Amino acid sequence: MTATATTAAAPLPAARPTTRAGWEARAASLRIEGRAFIDGRYVSAASGRAFARLSPIHGRAVAEVAEGAEADVNAAVASARRAFEDGRWRDRAPVERKRVMLRFAELIRADLEELALLETLDVGKVIGNSLAVDVPFAADCIAYYGELADKRFDEVAPVGPRDVALVRREALGVVAAIVPWNYPLIISAWKLGPALVAGNSVVLKPAEQSSLSAIRLAALAAEAGLPDGVLNVLPGFGEAAGRPLALHGDVDMVSFTGSTEVGKLMMGYAGASNMKRVALECGGKSPHVVLPDADLDAAASGIAWGIFYNQGETCHAGSRVIVHRAVQEALVEKIAAVQRAEIPLGHPLDPAAGMGAMIDEAHMGRVLSLVEAGRREGARVHCGGGRALAETGGFYVAPTILDGVGQRDRVAQEEIFGPVLAVTPFDTEAEAVAMANGTVYGLAAAVWTEDMHAAHRLSSAIRAGTVWVNCFDRSSLATPFGGFKQSGFGRDRSPHAVDKYTDLKTVWTAYR
Ligand code: NAD
Repeated sequence: MTATATTAAAPLPAARPTTRAGWEARAASLRIEGRAFIDGRYVSAASGRAFARLSPIHGRAVAEVAEGAEADVNAAVASARRAFEDGRWRDRAPVERKRVMLRFAELIRADLEELALLETLDVGKVIGNSLAVDVPFAADCIAYYGELADKRFDEVAPVGPRDVALVRREALGVVAAIVPWNYPLIISAWKLGPALVAGNSVVLKPAEQSSLSAIRLAALAAEAGLPDGVLNVLPGFGEAAGRPLALHGDVDMVSFTGSTEVGKLMMGYAGASNMKRVALECGGKSPHVVLPDADLDAAASGIAWGIFYNQGETCHAGSRVIVHRAVQEALVEKIAAVQRAEIPLGHPLDPAAGMGAMIDEAHMGRVLSLVEAGRREGARVHCGGGRALAETGGFYVAPTILDGVGQRDRVAQEEIFGPVLAVTPFDTEAEAVAMANGTVYGLAAAVWTEDMHAAHRLSSAIRAGTVWVNCFDRSSLATPFGGFKQSGFGRDRSPHAVDKYTDLKTVWTAYR
């Protein structure tokens, strides 16, 4: 075939939309798959039931999603178990597993616009971020762990002269990955990458609010050559699908990301069933501690992006500011100015929007009721404080700063998971540390100061899985991520993440 003939026959790819209307037209032409993916194919729920997914952008249905329940859980787990036991994935040469995972990552990148659009329609996050962050970060994560496939070594223990003790890491078996709705693609990839590279089979249960990108991922993984049954995607509600999955006697591990409340249930399910391994990435109430010598412009930028990015629906969002009284007023002004200039609330399909919609109406109501609680407890509403863009039919909350919050107030203690920042003043460093550590959470924190002695003192004293100094939310696949205290245990990202999807086995041989 000539080059000319090839060009003539191939349909031209549509250019990437540059306007809201362009993305709306693209959305209208999408054919969205909402079925479960079990044993290598898309299937309806055994009950035939499906639920409508209402997009938080406008409150209208965008997809019908299979309503998985116990029968579907059993089918998905049985498929994953067969795939694990016959070794169709774990026994493949590491270099072959690497090739499949790298191809999977490439297919995610190639599917950028469709995956980004699904993520935005489902979750209400802005399209610019879905394109620039969610999809590429998910692809990078799968590639990162794919690369590890032929680079991890087992150990030989130093024992007697006529003994060889191999210390091997072996796959656990069937992993249930139960994930939340705020970063569906990224968090799914954080589970799939290390679980798959270790040789496990996975049943991925997306949150009921955000099933669409996970359902699409399954087809891309299959196209990349992941054998049937190694990745099953089971949409459905927490009680009806997540609970039987976490209680299942043939699931070897639950890797959970979500609320602290449901994380605690996971530990109960493991104890009540087969003592499956549990790894938990749960809630947060991350503090910024701002000392009086801090670069206030840098701090204001880090704080504004840290709470308003993804409209505050981020587990490690810097939702508390603990600021020295001398710079409180100036800092608050600057944070509000950064939000206005750089992170405008808008329609999520508008490429210029900086923050979008809350995940659903119930969550919007919860965020607003906590703002009300803050007001009642005496906080001053510096900006925002109410619903926005109500004319769209969608679920938006105005970017909100509550100033003068007391350390014991609900808005200083409870995870709000919305664009709401609580500002509390301090007078002494000891008081600031006590406040920073004064919640049940310990996911992340930041310290802002030009004094390196203070930076080291505070980063040691604050109990959190990540402490940023003079920055916020800088991250890499190379660094572990996860919590202290009731923010959970186990780590996503970095080579350490693979460990929790494996067990150590000693093989001891004595020779003559
Ligand atoms: P959630 O706990 O309500 O739900 C998480 C997942 O658990 C969903 O898939 C849900 O269907 C399932 N689930 C709910 N109830 C269940 C039950 N009884 N049995 C089994 N499964 C059940 O959390 P969410 O509202 O989806 O997400 C927001 C929460 O996630 C916030 O608390 C946030 O901090 C947390 N989060 C933490 C991290 C982290 O890495 N630490 C990252 C993102 C989100």
